Amino acid sequence: GYQRVLEENRKLYNQVQDLKGNIRVYCRVRPVKGQSNKLSSVDHKDDGSITIITPSKYGKEGRKSFTFNKAFGPSASQAEVFADTQPLIRSVLDGYNVCIFAYGQTGSGKTHTMTGPDVITEKTMGVNYRALSDLFMISDQRKDTISYDISVQMIEIYNEQVRDLLVADGVNKRYPFYYMLVSQNGLNVPDANLVPVKSSSDVISLMNLGQKNRAVGSTAMNDRSSRSHSCLTVHVQGKNLSSGTLLRGCMHLVDLAGSERVEKTEAVGERLKEAQHINKSLSALGDVISSLAQKNAHVPYRNSKLTQLLQDSLGGQAKTLMFVHIAPEHDAIGETISTLKFAERVSSVELGAARANKENSDVKELKEQIASLKAALARKE
Ligand code: ADP
Ligand code: MG
Repeated sequence: GYQRVLEENRKLYNQVQDLKGNIRVYCRVRPVKGQSNKLSSVDHKDDGSITIITPSKYGKEGRKSFTFNKAFGPSASQAEVFADTQPLIRSVLDGYNVCIFAYGQTGSGKTHTMTGPDVITEKTMGVNYRALSDLFMISDQRKDTISYDISVQMIEIYNEQVRDLLVADGVNKRYPFYYMLVSQNGLNVPDANLVPVKSSSDVISLMNLGQKNRAVGSTAMNDRSSRSHSCLTVHVQGKNLSSGTLLRGCMHLVDLAGSERVEKTEAVGERLKEAQHINKSLSALGDVISSLAQKNAHVPYRNSKLTQLLQDSLGGQAKTLMFVHIAPEHDAIGETISTLKFAERVSSVELGAARANKENSDVKELKEQIASLKAALARKE
């Protein structure tokens, strides 16, 4: 009785989620840095619109607006930003695959959203911690009907090479590279450590290890973390205790490399190579998501390691959420606009609106035809 109702509700809920579209784009504007009297060039509204105000100093003064599923302003708390993500967490436990991305130029707040600031407290913790703690909470609520096994992997993609971040001695040794073998036993990187977790504190210590390993190879002059993608993957297996049926869900939490274009003069040697790899993988990601949003028959997953890694979790029944980050300072305007253009390209909102517009013009055309036929009829009479 009750279980069936729960099950039905869950199905209905997922259908509603499906209707809303599987790709969502939220935009977050971080607070202005430094002096509080510095002006912001960004205006946000609760309807999901972001307006960029170009001051005359930077050429022609103007306003340009973009619309997303949601827009968070500088005062939005970590809890508010996460609130609408909870349904996705639930769907992972229902056997769906989910991808959550943080996109934006270096310094725009990607790590702040996904992990949090330097000092992480209950209040300041980011999406990764909140997602995992929800996962444990919901799986616990269901423990009488479904028994869940949860395990995590954490990897980094740097210059199109995949590295395991959950290697215990990685801090002292040059730790190995792993080459991707797509989809083996439900794992996309079968060689990378897969660590079972039972509680949020297990996850926190693993994430700390991952962060430490990620810092290897970075120097003050060369912050590698902004030029690699890091991905925390959560694998969930649920066993229905009465029927014995298994379900598998997977969630990728991705802190992408900084999306900024490297100055032509600056881009030589290593830096040029990194820039080219980042460029290639971010545009491959954009191509995959936009071709999914347009429901194209061919989706170009194989153009980068990033899209190969996420292949099972992008498209089909999978759900995608992208947090797009922008810095409000005037000198970031160029990057901000290109970030928003990228976001608009992957956003199904615009496509939806475009379709609605088309319908409107079709309706208008039909109405005109009806009107002219009526007029012709009236003339005959
Ligand atoms: P990214 O990962 O995109 O390079 P960070 O997340 O490291 O950027 O953010 C850059 C700086 O701005 C950090 O000091 C971070 O704590 C701060 N910051 C970013 N977003 C916010 C926010 N929403 N509220 C307060 N501080 C933020
Ligand atoms: Mg970062």
